[in-house]
Amino acid sequence: EEALSALPQTGDREVETTLRPRKLGEFVGQPRVREQLELVLESARMRGVPPDHVLLSGPPGLGKTSLAMIIAAELDAAIRITSGPALERAGDLAAMLSNLVEGDVLFIDEIHRIARPAEEMLYLAMEDFRVDVVVGKGPGATSIPLEIAPFTLVGATTRSGALTGPLRDRFGFTGQMEFYTAEELELVVRRAASLLGIRIEDEGAVEIARRSRGTPRIANRLLRRVRDYAQVRADGVATRTVVRAALEVYDVDELGLDRLDRAVLTALVRSFGGGPVGVSTLAVAVGEETTTVEEVCEPYLVRAGMLARTPRGRVATVSAWEHLGLTPPAGGVA
Ligand code: ADP
Repeated sequence: EEALSALPQTGDREVETTLRPRKLGEFVGQPRVREQLELVLESARMRGVPPDHVLLSGPPGLGKTSLAMIIAAELDAAIRITSGPALERAGDLAAMLSNLVEGDVLFIDEIHRIARPAEEMLYLAMEDFRVDVVVGKGPGATSIPLEIAPFTLVGATTRSGALTGPLRDRFGFTGQMEFYTAEELELVVRRAASLLGIRIEDEGAVEIARRSRGTPRIANRLLRRVRDYAQVRADGVATRTVVRAALEVYDVDELGLDRLDRAVLTALVRSFGGGPVGVSTLAVAVGEETTTVEEVCEPYLVRAGMLARTPRGRVATVSAWEHLGLTPPAGGVA
C-alpha cells in the first residue's frame, strides 16, 4: 500500500499538458522543421516584426499543437486557440480576429475544415491585417473595413492537400511533420517517464518506442497503459517483459499496429483480394469514417510498407499479407 501511494497520482487528462515540450530545445525530433522554424522566428525577432504565417502539416499526434505553443512561447506572445470546425460562421472568426493584440499567435487546428466564408475573411486578415465586416443582407448590405492587430497565424492540418490554393499560398512557411524514428520516440518515452515518475528499463523504453507508430502521442499513451500494468500486475517497473505483456492486453501488435490498422489490412486482403479498392469502400467495410481511415490509419500503414495508394485504389503489399500470416496470391499483388 505504501508503495502505491508513493506513485505519482496524476490523472491521464492532465498528463498531455504536463508532457508538452515548452521550448524548441525541448522538442524532440523533426530536425528539419525545427531548423526552418528557428530561422523564421529568429529573423523576425531581429527585424522586430511578427513572423510570417506558419502552416504545420502531418498526421495526428506528431506535435503540431505543441509546436504552435512553442512558437508563441519563443516569441513571448500569447496564443489564442481555435479550430476549423469551430469557425462555421465568419462572425465567430471576426470576433476572434478583432480581439487579437499585436504580436499574438492565432492557432487554428484542422484548418482544412474551415467554412468558406470564414476562409475568405482569413485571406484579407492574413494579408492586410484587415477584416470586412458585412452588415445587413441583400442589396442593402454594406461592408465595413476593420483594422486588426498584426498577428501570426499558425494553422495545423492533417491534410494539406485539402487546403484551397489561395489559403495555402498565404502561409509564408509550411512545416511538413514526419513520423518519428524509434530512437527519437525512445527519447520521448524516457522524458515522459521521468516527468511522470515512472520507472522504466532501457529495454522497456525501446519496446514502447518501436510500437508507437512513429507518433509521440501514442508513445505517451502506451507508456501510461504500461504504467498501469506494471503497477497492478508487476512490481511497478516497466521491463521489456512487462511492456510486451501490457501491450498485448491493449491489442498493440509487434509493429505497433492497433486494432483498426489491422481491421483495415484484414478487410483489404480478405474482402477485396488485396485491392485495389477505393478508400471509402474500405472505410465502410471496417465501419469507420473515411477521413479516419485516410488521415489516421493510412499514413502509417504506407510508411510501414503495408499499404500502397495507387490511382486505382488501395493495395495491400506482400508485407501486409505476411504480417497477417497469409500467403500472398501466386500471381503477385495487384
Ligand atoms: P498534434 O497537434 O500534431 O495532434 P500534439 O502537439 O497535440 O500533436 O502532441 C501530442 C502529444 O505528444 C503532446 O501532448 C506531447 O506530450 C507529445 N509530443 C508531441 N511531439 C513531441 C515532441 N517532439 N517531443 C516530446 N513530446 C511530444
